[in-house]
Amino acid sequence: MKIARFSHEGAISFGIVDGTELVVLKGDPMFAGFDTTGERVSLADAKLLAPVIPRSKVVAVGKNYRDHANEMGGEAPTEPLLFLKPNTSVIGPNDTIVLPPQSSQVEHEGELAIVIGKIAKSVPADSALDYVFGYTVANDVTARDLQKSDGQWARAKGFDTFCPLGPAIETDAPGADASIVVRVNGQERQAGKLGDMVHGVADIIAYASAVFTLLPGDVILTGTPAGVGPLVDGDTVAVEIAGIGVLSNPVRRP
Ligand code: MG
Repeated sequence: MKIARFSHEGAISFGIVDGTELVVLKGDPMFAGFDTTGERVSLADAKLLAPVIPRSKVVAVGKNYRDHANEMGGEAPTEPLLFLKPNTSVIGPNDTIVLPPQSSQVEHEGELAIVIGKIAKSVPADSALDYVFGYTVANDVTARDLQKSDGQWARAKGFDTFCPLGPAIETDAPGADASIVVRVNGQERQAGKLGDMVHGVADIIAYASAVFTLLPGDVILTGTPAGVGPLVDGDTVAVEIAGIGVLSNPVRRP
């Protein structure tokens, strides 16, 4: 089941994606269940929004695909390498990624995003998936020059608009064979399979929840395959995960 958050005629709602329509829900399904209002809205008439606004944080894992760790000049870490992105970096599908004046090298990183559905603190890996609400697509937009010059990543990963999420939350887990592909202006830049992650979803949740209490609505980005590259003014970047959807965003330098 795919859950979208959308605006329509001035109201923000959640809906279940059913073909070309949204079945409108009475509230946020993470907290209020799946009761429907009886209304349907055409997807063509709705503006899709980020399917979740992380309540407290976006946790992210660096260098979680060996081929990307290699292209960055190293090896994949033996334990998940965690960092945080502020929830103010989140934007939705088709919202604009704004290139900041502080950086001349902003890059795309297409990633699977885990949406946490229940409070999770020090959960073991074998029950970690019980805390997942669903999965969506993310772009861990990164100011690569600042990531190198700052030494730590708060600024490079944290600018407003640097965490596109969407287009919807898929409540079924994607398979290990599911492909992740990033295209810029239609040209393929990154391609991999989710099963190529060094640390899988359950292990990442267990590891992160031993550090931070994860709250419903928190999001975990799971790392990016090889092929990261620049975004420039006028580009359109699209991240596609098979079975979840395509997250597309224009890029502008004001
Ligand atoms: Mg990343």
